[in-house]
Amino acid sequence: MSLVDQMDTVTDASAGTVDRHATTDTFASTNPASGAVVGVFPLHDAEAVRQTVERARGASERWAALGFDGRAKRLAAYRGYLARRLNELADLVHRENGKPHADAILEISLAIDHVAWAGGHARKTLGPRKVHAGMLAANHAAYLEYQPLGVVGVIGPWNYPVFTPMGSLAYALAAGNAVVFKPSEHTAAVGAWLAAAWRAAVPDAADAFQVVTGYGETGAALCRAGVGKLAFTGSAATGKKVMATCAENLTPVLLELGGKDAMIVDDDADVAAAADAAVWGAMSNGGQTCIGIERVYATSAVYDQFVAEVTEQVRTLRPGSDGEASYGPMTMASQVDVVQRHLEDAAGSGARLVHGDADPGLFRNQNYLVPTVVLDAPETSAAVREETFGPTLTITKVRDAEEALEKANASAYGLGGAVFSRSKARGMDLARRMRSGMTSVNSVLTFASVPALPFGGVGDSGFGRIHGEDGLKEFTRAKAITRQRVALPVNLMSFGRPPSAADALARVMGMVHGRHR
Ligand code: NDP
Repeated sequence: MSLVDQMDTVTDASAGTVDRHATTDTFASTNPASGAVVGVFPLHDAEAVRQTVERARGASERWAALGFDGRAKRLAAYRGYLARRLNELADLVHRENGKPHADAILEISLAIDHVAWAGGHARKTLGPRKVHAGMLAANHAAYLEYQPLGVVGVIGPWNYPVFTPMGSLAYALAAGNAVVFKPSEHTAAVGAWLAAAWRAAVPDAADAFQVVTGYGETGAALCRAGVGKLAFTGSAATGKKVMATCAENLTPVLLELGGKDAMIVDDDADVAAAADAAVWGAMSNGGQTCIGIERVYATSAVYDQFVAEVTEQVRTLRPGSDGEASYGPMTMASQVDVVQRHLEDAAGSGARLVHGDADPGLFRNQNYLVPTVVLDAPETSAAVREETFGPTLTITKVRDAEEALEKANASAYGLGGAVFSRSKARGMDLARRMRSGMTSVNSVLTFASVPALPFGGVGDSGFGRIHGEDGLKEFTRAKAITRQRVALPVNLMSFGRPPSAADALARVMGMVHGRHR
């Protein structure tokens, strides 16, 4: 029996369509390709969310008491469970989010790798260590450790419903926190599946990972439920609301928001490789990728060849929900309007649009979008400035890589990005100067698959980091301890200190630091 069939929160409804907003106490998530109901879930209200967080609080103490090794063992059992059920979960992701089964396998594989890394590196990153006490406290021992926050709330998106929330869930759990996860209403079944999988794989700490379902109000209730931190992934607009709600209780937030990631193609780039990467970075998952490539700046030396390669590749892409499709339907129907507005605005302001060859008339519903390349759209147009989140790519000709960098950096967002250059020094220099949290040189999106690297943005792309050591520390508070080893004859921090002590200290400071100019 599949986990979906076992989940007590889900009413099995494999056929038919519903108005998902029609009921008051449940809602349905639907297959974006067919409209069929994937699952029906409770609309958890503020009281239900509060009770869930209280249960998690009790569980968090027992979970923390297991220590790094006890938690690593259980996280390993979880990843083993996910790996054994990979196809089952991929099928559910395909049905609920719409992405091809093979892309779902890739997404889940990346998530499993992160669970492994987080469990395996928590002790080394967060465990107690001695640090140098320094000259002024030489008679003390100094200790640093990173303690869990208690319960971490995670509000996740629908575009990568396994990989993205797992970057918070696995790292928060490895750091010793319990988690309460509120998946997007569009992918509630995947969220419920992940929590049910935890209960099955880690029965002795089942309440350390719970799920609540509902719309934005349920997410807002989680912000107000007294969690130690709230990790949010979604749009910048909703991120601001989440931050404002969390501010009511001074709950700290981690915000992974949108992006408008740019690729720079320099004079010496491998143009065919850059084109291949740009098409994948822009069109895979139907462009519904926070770190997707949305803009390319190609130098005049390579522009024509790059455009020719990209448009040739794009012509062969075909959206659909069959096994051969390049990418699936738009998960959220309302996104279609955003994409079309951006394309119309670009065309109206003089850009040239090149579409894929797939005939939109052949598609069963309007959620399928043909891939579109937008050539030389003005930098002021919505297609260049706003997050499009669809199968589109703008390509703009620039004089050289410096102009490309200037344009790439002239965005309110700053999440990821890519640079193509055969010169190692040039590629690394451009990557460093790109105003983003992450940049891949001669590939796209690779930083997301390296568990040791932190993931997060600057500006409107948010702040805080998941993944890597920074991602583990994000879900902890640093705890500093000193222990006096021997008492000194003169204690400077005592009203009993002799009057000469401060003069002696000033002389020592002069000798040690005064020579530096
Ligand atoms: P939102 O930012 O609105 O939603 C993200 C998550 O926040 C969902 O789980 C949502 O729940 C929840 N939420 C909504 N309102 C609140 C609130 N007031 N308090 C707490 N939680 C809340 O994104 P959408 O899914 O509506 O997508 C809109 C746009 O955001 C997309 O078009 C895309 O541009 C961008 N986006 C970017 C993502 C990224 O990875 N950077 C991911 C997803 C979207 P619910 O779904 O139930 O409303």
